[in-house]
Parts: sequence; structure tokens; C-alpha cells
Amino acid sequence: MKLKQLTIMAMLASTMTVSAAGNPFMNYKKWKTPHGTYPFNEICNAHYMPAFEEAMKQGLAEIDEIANNPAEPTFANTIEAYERSGEMLGIVAGCFYNLASAETNDSIQALQVELSPKMSEYSATIRLNEKLFQRIKAVYDQRDKLKLNKEQTKLLEDTYESFANNGANLSPEDKQKYRELSAKLSMLTMTFGQNVLKATNAWSMLITREEDLAGLSDDTKAMLKKNAEAKGLEGWLLNLKPTTVTPVLKDCDNRDIRRELYMAYNTRCIGGEFDNTQNIIDIANTRLALAKLFEKNCFADKSLYKTMADNKDNVYRLLDQLRDSYMPAARAEVKELQEYAKQQGFYATLQPWDFSYYSKKLKNDKYAISDDIVRPYFELEAVKKGVFGLANRLYGITFKENKNIQVYNPEVTAYEVYDEKGKFLAVYYADFHPRDGKRGGAWMNDFQPQFIRNKNDHRPHIVNVMNFTRPVIGDNGEVIKPALFTYDEVRTFLHEFGHGLHGMLTRCQYSSLSGTSVPRDFVELPSQFNENFIDEKEFLDTFAKHYETGEAMPQELIDKIKRSSNFHAAYSCVRQLSFGYLDMAWHTLTEPFSVPADLTTQEAVIRFGDDAMAQVQVLPTVPETQMETAFTHIFSGGYAAGYYSYKWSELLDADAFSVFKDAKAKNGSIFDKKTAKRFRENILEKGGTEKAMDLYKRFRGGEPTVNALLERDGIKAIEVK
Ligand SMILES: [Zn+2]
Repeated sequence: MKLKQLTIMAMLASTMTVSAAGNPFMNYKKWKTPHGTYPFNEICNAHYMPAFEEAMKQGLAEIDEIANNPAEPTFANTIEAYERSGEMLGIVAGCFYNLASAETNDSIQALQVELSPKMSEYSATIRLNEKLFQRIKAVYDQRDKLKLNKEQTKLLEDTYESFANNGANLSPEDKQKYRELSAKLSMLTMTFGQNVLKATNAWSMLITREEDLAGLSDDTKAMLKKNAEAKGLEGWLLNLKPTTVTPVLKDCDNRDIRRELYMAYNTRCIGGEFDNTQNIIDIANTRLALAKLFEKNCFADKSLYKTMADNKDNVYRLLDQLRDSYMPAARAEVKELQEYAKQQGFYATLQPWDFSYYSKKLKNDKYAISDDIVRPYFELEAVKKGVFGLANRLYGITFKENKNIQVYNPEVTAYEVYDEKGKFLAVYYADFHPRDGKRGGAWMNDFQPQFIRNKNDHRPHIVNVMNFTRPVIGDNGEVIKPALFTYDEVRTFLHEFGHGLHGMLTRCQYSSLSGTSVPRDFVELPSQFNENFIDEKEFLDTFAKHYETGEAMPQELIDKIKRSSNFHAAYSCVRQLSFGYLDMAWHTLTEPFSVPADLTTQEAVIRFGDDAMAQVQVLPTVPETQMETAFTHIFSGGYAAGYYSYKWSELLDADAFSVFKDAKAKNGSIFDKKTAKRFRENILEKGGTEKAMDLYKRFRGGEPTVNALLERDGIKAIEVK
């Protein structure tokens, strides 16, 4: 604890001595880097705080200028001017917040804590600027008389509503309340996320007898050995990162170790130093209080406004329809697995730490396919060729590595992306492997957004950050084995790359509408759509070759992959549904959550979570565990009252891909250029410039239905009224 305080003090002292002249952010307009990319080599932690302070000062000055403009409010001098304000802040924040996820350290984490209230205060100051709002309202009120195009109209509506929904129409007292609640919420959600990261990093288990690791692959064991060596220990060190948790739960024969790992993972942030139970209550209650300020009954009512789903009834309708369709199949899958485990000599009831283990064995028995059989065909360089090649086949774009583009870690590769006519389209950074200081999971983000100003198209800078299998490196730095991906890792790469394409191909006027700036329940369409290709032989044939022999992936294996892709589809669906119901339960509270007198805070939070998930639970509930205390999506990410959107988008992606399948049935190729052109022009290029449902209908020729999803998963539709 002491050490941390010292670090903060040292950092604050150093920020004072850094001169403005040496701070690269201060002259970002003059960067000589390719495409104005970040000069990462020159940026250090001490530059951030002065840069943020200067950027906020500039941003507020720009806002004052708009608000105090003596001229009559117009679209150009108010809405467009507002859209373009805060440019420097965008540059500084674009760098800082990406690194806070992909390349963090104690100083950056301390800066986040310091910045959080300042950033909330900054945006609240703008959103509650009465003069500015009155000018925006004046333009909005005469919108029917203005000759605006679709995108300008959308910008005007979105701008007006973003103010109205953030307190601009509130009374002075309620505005003050709004400020306080927003600042509190931002602090709470940040603490929640940091607790998860710290709890994940704090736990480890040293295994000293190799026989306890029976079942694990040599690669996993080598990784665990490296983990131990890094801490100066002898043996194999398990931690709570996905690269350890996933293989151990799947492969480790030792049930006690699987159980212990599962328990550690699912009790993260329940009690102890990094407890999140009270944080969850505070977050849910603060969100409810915010909703009440706007005369909404619950947070979901406020949050679902402007999504494709539109309201909570539509969300529950989707969840219930999928629950009723998938639950019988999910129960049958568990029953079959229980029978199978019995044949293997396991007579107890299957527990959550047994499911992946036997599921993998059964999958192997049924389809004789395991990660280790598939991995040799998914060598990193080949996979990149395949995924980039897919974008080339569909949209004609190409990727060229450029070593002159600076990167934030030597492991990151930077590319220039060109369109079919050879015109520069985007910068793309790829960051594949796990490191200390990188949070778990995989994601896409932009460092700089796309927009057009003075007819000048500022192309976007996109990043994909992932946590995939590393190459095995020997003591002298030589590559013993290249990075060989699992099927799931390739799929995840396709997913994140699909988001990447949404970012790279965008063609919009305004950055707040460009790229992935679309409703939450529409944003996963391009990513999940892109995953579909992994089950297409025609796609696999383009890159999936054995890294040692060069032999193409055998037809037999492709068939097995295809058959196995539906394996336990119902189980994984109801698991997703359980997270969706949990999310909705916390965010449809109409009264503040209070802990019953006979329960502790931890018991009450766990019980609430278990109750919410009970209707789609097919495995025993384990007392004293709950995933919600580490559920960053909804408590520190942007998915509050929005987790359903994964399933919503799945419905969309299956429906959209069925158009490509129809084209294949007709023309013989899944890479149908005409359909791809329609998908690109109506969805990938359009950002949030129009209503999501309108864009989708223009691509599809009608509204989406659940049929393609049920068919893909091999589930029969059940009518739900
Ligand atoms: Zn995604």
C-alpha cells in the first residue's frame, strides 16, 4: 500500500517538471508520423496529466465560443461546431484509454483514478451548459425547415437527445443531483473493474507434482512452468487468466485442482480485499436513482431507448423465446453428458467444474476432434493470411505491414490498409498475445476515428487486442514452436476483425456517427457475421495448412469441425441467456436494492444473482459462488441492460449470413461479391448515420427472423406468444 502511494507521489512530482515543449500531445497537429499515428516511442506516463488538462481547457474554450456566439444558432455554427470540439481531448484520451486496457501499469492505474472524476466533471460541465443547450434546442426546434441530409438530421437528433437524456432539461437542483450521481457511478464502475483485475492477478496455485497435471497438453504445461519460473518458483503455476483457466477446466484429470481453480475464479471479488458485492449494490442503486431523475421506472427503461430492441418487453420476449426453444435441448445435452460420465466411471452429479472436462471428452469421442488436432493448421501467420484474405475476397481490401508506424509494445504489428483501388483506407494494429498489464478477453477499439472535414477524409486507426496462444520460445530466444491457435481463437480473431472492418470501412461525415458508433444491439452484427466463415470449407481451404507439412486441412477434419460446431449449442445458449437475465434483473429494479436483515451483503447479492439465473440453470448451483462480482461487461463496461444484445445480434448475424448461403446455393461461392457489396454499403460503411433497423432492412430486404439462428444451432422453433 505504501509503495503505491509513493508511486503516485513520484508521478505527480514528475508531471510538474515535464515541460510543455517536450510533451508530444501538445503539438499533435504537427506529428510527422505516418498518417498522424501516435509517436508511442516519445510518449511517457508523465505526459498524460498535463495533456489532459490542456485538452480539457481547450475543449471548454471551444464550447464557450459556441455557446456565446452572437450569431443566430445554425446547424453549422452550433451542431457541427459542437461535433468538432474537443479534438485534442480525443487524441489524448484515444491513446490513454487504449493503453489502460492493453498496456497498463501502476502509474496508469493511478492516473485513471485521478482522471475519472475530472473526466466526469468535464462532460457534465458541457452537458449542463444551459446556453449551449438552448442553442442546440433552437436548431432542433426548426429541424423541419432546415435542408439537412439524413446524416445531418441524425446528428442533430442524437446531439439534442444526448443533452436531454443527460440532464439538460432538469431543474437546477436535479442537475446538481445528476452531476453527483454520474461522478459517483463512474468511480464505482472503475473500482469494480480494478478489483476484478487485481483479484485475478492476486491468485495463484503452485503445483509441484507433475502427475497432478495429467491430461494437460505439453504446451499448457510449458506455459505453466514459465509462469512459475517468472516468479522464481519451481513447478507449475496456475493463475486465473483465461489462458490457464480454460485449458485446466477442460483437460486436467485431477478433479480437486479443477474444482479449486473453478472456485477461485467464481469467488473473485466476493469478500476479502477486492470485494465487489457492495459495489454491485451501489452501482445498481445509483443507476436506478439516475433513471428516476428522468422519471423512468428502472435503469433499463432509460438505457434501452434508441436501441434496436427499443424496450425491455422486446428484450424479455427474445430471452423467453430462446429459453423456451433451447432449454429442452440444453437439458438433454446435460443428461447425455451425465450418462457419458457414468460410462467413464464417474457416478456423482456433474458439477460446473466437470462440465467442460467431460464435454470435451464426449466431443472427442463423437467427433474425434480436439484442439491439439486442429492447432497445427492454425499457425498465426497462416491465420492472418486467411482472415486478411477473407476481407480481400469480400471487399477487395489489402493489408501492408509498415514498420515505420510506431507501436505501444514491440509485440504489436501495424498495417496500412488499402481499398480495392489502392487508396489508403485505415491504419490497423494487431496485438495477439497475453501479457502482464493487458486485461483478459479480446476487443476492437479505435485510436482515432474516421470523419470528413473540409472534404478531407480522415481515415481511422483501428486496433484488435487479443489474448491468444503464444509461440513457445527457447532459452536463447529461438522459436521452438510457432503460435498455433485453437479453433475458438481463430473464431475470436474473426469476430474482433469483423468489428475492425466495421471501423476500417466506414465512410461517414461525423466521427460521432462513424464506424462502430451504433446501438449496442447492432454493434455485434459485423463481428458475429464474420465468424460464420470458419465453418465454410471454401474459406478454410484458403489458409488452413499444416505448419510442418504444408498439407491442407483434410476434408474429414473439416467435416468433423462442421458437425462439432453445433456440439452443446443449446448449453452455451442458455448460459448466455443466464447472463442476459442476470443483467436485466439488476437493471429492472424499480426500488433500491436493500440487504434483508437476515442476510449478509455477500449472501444477498449471491442469492439475487442465483434467483435471476435459475430459470435457465441446467447445472447445480454452487453455494457461495457467483460470476456477477466479476461481470465487468455490465458493472464496468458498456453493457448494462445490454447483455441480451449478444443474442440479439446472433439472430441478426445468422439471418444476414443466410443471404450469403443462398447466394452460394445459386452461384457456388460463399464469397459472393454482390451480397458483400450490399453488406458493405448498407451496414459496414454506414456507422450510425441511420436507424439500425432501416439499414438492416435495406441490406436484407425485410426484418430479421429467428429462423436462421435456430436452424444453424439445430434447434426446432417453438411458438411463443
Ligand atoms: Zn464483439
